[in-house]
Amino acid sequence: MMRLRRFTVEDNHKPLKLMAVLAHPDDESLAMGGILAKYAAAGVQTYLVMATRGERGWFGPAAAYPGPEALGRLRETELRAAAQVLGLQEIVYLDYQDGELDQADPAEAIARIVSQVRWVGPDVVVTFDPNGMYGHPDHIAISQLTTTAVMAAADPGHTVLTRNSPHRVAKLYYRAFVQAEQAAYEATFGRLVMPVDRVQRRFTVWPEWAITTRVDTSAYGEQIWQAIACHRSQLPDYQQLKTLPDEVKAGLWGRQSYYRAISLVNGGREVEDDLFAGLRGRAQSRPLIYDLPQLQAA
Ligand SMILES: [Zn+2]
Repeated sequence: MMRLRRFTVEDNHKPLKLMAVLAHPDDESLAMGGILAKYAAAGVQTYLVMATRGERGWFGPAAAYPGPEALGRLRETELRAAAQVLGLQEIVYLDYQDGELDQADPAEAIARIVSQVRWVGPDVVVTFDPNGMYGHPDHIAISQLTTTAVMAAADPGHTVLTRNSPHRVAKLYYRAFVQAEQAAYEATFGRLVMPVDRVQRRFTVWPEWAITTRVDTSAYGEQIWQAIACHRSQLPDYQQLKTLPDEVKAGLWGRQSYYRAISLVNGGREVEDDLFAGLRGRAQSRPLIYDLPQLQAA
């Protein structure tokens, strides 16, 4: 566990908290750099739970692969630098191996995430969508595990020995890439193809009509790029990326789309522009008490 900076609470309201639960170092910058930079700048406390250290993400010649441990250490260093650029409070690793998350014992993996959710007490949790952006099994696994962990964290009957005080997350989001983002990504980083079980998985985009939340991140383009650039081991075309025209960067990082999977504070068809919509200006963690009319059995 690493603390990046201290945070002092000066007003009477508790600061809002955002937690991203992801699979590999660089996911936070490439997929969610915009919201992490934006909300940290706005005084939201941002936390990152990372399932692996990306020990298999090697783009150099096979003979030069330094091995999982050394690459994991290098990527940890890269992530620490990116986290500083993005203003993250803390990074916690779940200590799984890159590429093996969907073979992990689900009960144990869920308990590890529950433990972090209860410790930090986030208002909003974000993770990958159920298709894992382009079918990456680790991304799909972290989406499923996080969704379950958000529910389990609120359940007093779910016991994690060290962190046993239930916490109710108000909103859970999936990062939902749309067509325009896919086009910008693949034009920049090349075609994303994930071969799994003899199937070539490709980028899976969400229809615009299914998007519940669009966050304007255009003011943070440079910061997002600085964070991505920290992951040098993952950017074989770094020199070329460095000189991307501004309009391409704007297409990549100007706006981020999300799907609101769970919300205790709002709903409906109106598209939000804020992950904290429904949570602003109210005390968090207040008890939920509803007075419902008596429902009659037919
Ligand atoms: Zn990833």
